[in-house]
Amino acid sequence: MLVVTTIPEARARRDEDRSEGRRVVLVPTMGFLHQGHLSLVRRARSVGDSVWVSIFVNPTQFGPGEDLERYPRDLARDLQMLEAEGVAVVFVPSVEEMYPEPARVRISFPGLDDALCGRTRPTHFSGVGLVVAKLFNIIEPEVAIFGQKDAQQALLIRRLASDLDFPIAIEIAPTVREADGLAMSSRNSYLQPSQREVAPVIHRALLLGREAVETGEADPQVVRQLMIDTIATAPAVTLDYAECVRIGDLLEPERIDSPVLLAIAAHLGATRLIDNELACPPGPTGE
Ligand code: AMP
Repeated sequence: MLVVTTIPEARARRDEDRSEGRRVVLVPTMGFLHQGHLSLVRRARSVGDSVWVSIFVNPTQFGPGEDLERYPRDLARDLQMLEAEGVAVVFVPSVEEMYPEPARVRISFPGLDDALCGRTRPTHFSGVGLVVAKLFNIIEPEVAIFGQKDAQQALLIRRLASDLDFPIAIEIAPTVREADGLAMSSRNSYLQPSQREVAPVIHRALLLGREAVETGEADPQVVRQLMIDTIATAPAVTLDYAECVRIGDLLEPERIDSPVLLAIAAHLGATRLIDNELACPPGPTGE
């Protein structure tokens, strides 16, 4: 496994992959890897010949007062895990390598980046758009894999690739969870034991919302309220949002008559966690 830290090294290795006809699949991450990341890596192995993983805690996607400085990092452990998964190349640039001077470019997603997480993290997605576009230009993968865990990000990246004509297939992989339903996240490491114990309420609320949609509840407000009430049973959990929105534009439908995204963001102390489920209303035959 090759570990590269500079853009010229990455490009040189990319050229080698190209001249030897290898299909490059990229899995972008911020490191402190868990089984969710590794599921993306395994998917990458099944669709390409040369799996690249990037590890970069991207400052432009963190807002003032967010957890950029304390974001968990353990590169030695990450590299061991990736080596064991048969990864070909790990790209680990420094902040100076990616941003030799403060970037004057951001990529905004009008109408999509102000919903859900964009409401409390107004600069987040323009930083994500920037760094993903940079990674796509540096590595030029044939395929890039992202997680459904970050559903809004996945939607925006799809639009980034199609609207900017990146010749890259975007694949979205399912969310990997702990046994009690909590979505795996590097940020789970922040949780105190008592917070970790109540954190699965987020997924329980999503499952109750999904069940309501699947059994015919067509009023998004009712579904939302069900999720809000469920989160309220855990006083240690402070809701940021609980939403029931259309998959394509993240707007709340008047009535649920096509698949919806149920999404929750909540704080446990200083830790902000997000999760989501897709829910399909019953078909005309009631199945
Ligand atoms: P991060 O390191 O948190 O930026 O995540 C890197 C990639 O892994 C993103 O595409 C995430 O959506 C994905 N990811 C994070 N957590 C999970 C999970 N529990 N299951 C599946 N994919 C995940």
